[in-house]
Amino acid sequence: QAAARAAAINADTGAPTIFDKIINKEIPSSIVYEDEKVLAFRDISPQAPVHVLIIPKFRDGLTELGKADARHGEILGQLLYAAKIVAEKEGIADGFRVVINSGASACQSVYHLHMHVLGGRQMNWPPG
Ligand code: ADP
Repeated sequence: QAAARAAAINADTGAPTIFDKIINKEIPSSIVYEDEKVLAFRDISPQAPVHVLIIPKFRDGLTELGKADARHGEILGQLLYAAKIVAEKEGIADGFRVVINSGASACQSVYHLHMHVLGGRQMNWPPG
């Protein structure tokens, strides 16, 4: 846990991230859904039978939710709606979880805002 937190603190530079390479198809990913504004692909380290990340294709300063501005309202809504589309495509629309880790205290490790969509098993509460 301490290592994850240290990595999260060091990751918050605003520099391009691995997700830019995924958007530009420079590294492979398993794409589940894509439109003009958002890209959804499978998490490389799945925490549930279905674990998809949804990201804005244009980060526009949105490194983390805690740094969102009023201008980001539209893309934030589009990401949330894309979560519903992904859940339907993955057959988990009857029960799924959406998570955004914002900042080091939440162990965010990639500073390109992303939404986790998790499902396919019973999700428990509280999270860790
Ligand atoms: P954490 O790393 O603590 O889960 P984040 O909320 O920042 O924090 O999540 C980043 C996610 O990105 C992780 O779930 C990680 O498995 C995933 N990830 C990192 N690199 C890739 C990659 N190349 N392809 C798909 N998923 C990735």
